[in-house]
Amino acid sequence: MTKTIKNYVNGEWIDALSSDLIPVYDPATCELLANCPDSTAQDVDLAVKAAKGAFNEWRSTPILSRAQYMHHFKVLVEENFEDISKILVKEHGKAIDESRGEVRRAIESIDFAISVPVLMRSDGLEDISSGIDETTLRQPAGVFAAITPFNFPFMVPLWFLPTAIACGNTFILKPSPQTPLSTEILFEMLDELDLPEGVVNLVNGGVPSATALMEHPDITGISFVGSSPVAKIIYETCTRNGKRVQAQGGAKNYIAVLPDANMEASVKNILGAAYGCAGQRCLAAGVAIAVGDAYDQLKDELTKQVQNLKVGYGLDETSHMGTVISDSAKQRIEAMIQQGVDDGAELIIDGRNIVVEGYENGSWVGPTLLADVKRGSTMATEEVFGPVLSLMKADSYEEAVEIINESHYGNAASIFTNNGKYARDFKYNVNAGNIGVNIGVAAPSASFPFGRQKDSFFGDLHGQGSDSIEFYTERKIIIERWV
Ligand code: NAD
Repeated sequence: MTKTIKNYVNGEWIDALSSDLIPVYDPATCELLANCPDSTAQDVDLAVKAAKGAFNEWRSTPILSRAQYMHHFKVLVEENFEDISKILVKEHGKAIDESRGEVRRAIESIDFAISVPVLMRSDGLEDISSGIDETTLRQPAGVFAAITPFNFPFMVPLWFLPTAIACGNTFILKPSPQTPLSTEILFEMLDELDLPEGVVNLVNGGVPSATALMEHPDITGISFVGSSPVAKIIYETCTRNGKRVQAQGGAKNYIAVLPDANMEASVKNILGAAYGCAGQRCLAAGVAIAVGDAYDQLKDELTKQVQNLKVGYGLDETSHMGTVISDSAKQRIEAMIQQGVDDGAELIIDGRNIVVEGYENGSWVGPTLLADVKRGSTMATEEVFGPVLSLMKADSYEEAVEIINESHYGNAASIFTNNGKYARDFKYNVNAGNIGVNIGVAAPSASFPFGRQKDSFFGDLHGQGSDSIEFYTERKIIIERWV
């Protein structure tokens, strides 16, 4: 019998009160893996009560002990490394090595939280006035929640949960209902830590539970990662309800290749950036803009090398690329490829209709390469979230920057060049939150904030790094005189 995933509330696995279920399929085999409950406002309320009830005890737990819990958590994730990676393959469809990369990145976020005794320290001044000292104290701010996407179902929750609780807050996670098994194993490990009941809670579901979190008066703030239209809804709803919010949205990421770039390294990086995780990454390269003479060379090299990428079942170690998340995602991506052709692009490699032997009904889209993509067209401007790379030509470096800056997204942009002047200008003038110089995937490490601009981010303080400490704490200024 297919299992129904439970919620984790107040230190216990419990059935959701809601009887509505969302099926979870392996996108390669089409096997029904589990049912995910579509939790309601009542389910959310149970979790919020538990988190609120746990807050006072948890905030007064010594910070070194809170850091130790995170240290133990890291050990458990390392011990379960392969099991987690395999679950990611099953429910998401990505290749096993990509899954391992996701778990490795997740561990970096736990490492960051282990440093909380240093990160939460604040400052002060003696004798700010005669006999008066002034200091800043950082305190946890209450109950926080995160609403997370399907594409990095293990890593993205850990951008938030470890730091939030290490700072002394209590926490509720609402993961994507498309990939609830990775968060189930995450909470199995959290359960082994013997944290005080209610410190961490898991509510599974879709829009009803997300909405209930945003409207609950006892939640201080929400961290969100997902598509831009939903990020905007989250930002507006949370601010209307007086909550802190960091809403990280979608992306269209551009890579500019200058004629002086090392072409071999550029192509290798572009391949990884465009087709890794079947393009289902917020940092995926959607467009390569080749400047002048670089165009023909890049087109020829990409054409040769894209054909060598092996699409196959994620648990097969030789596969470079797995499936996309679902059949509806496949149909949406294929429609966008057709749109690109209708808009006048040259379809060099078509990933539609590929067949993977033994997995004929899976949600496969092969690596796709479009060339001569027109400025302003859908493929030049809109997120595909699939394994499709658009190649554009710019007559000059300046034109490449114009193309990038006219995007309504501002997540990441990279340049490949050996010219320091252009590299500096790119860092200086390109409007994107993460800039790569001779780097295909400009992914900030856990100790740096994840930069994003324009429609890729709604809020003030970003996820990760020093911003996350600001987001999850309240500052209190103490002014003292002792006579
Ligand atoms: P999504 O926006 O559909 O869903 C994200 C989360 O929001 C899920 O938990 C979902 O249940 C919930 N949700 C959906 N509609 C909602 C609504 N109307 N109200 C409240 N909650 C709602 O995103 P997805 O398809 O799961 O993930 C892919 C998207 O995430 C892509 O656009 C990708 O670029 C983006 N993403 C961004 C980052 C980043 O760091 N900026 C990282 C990963 C993914």
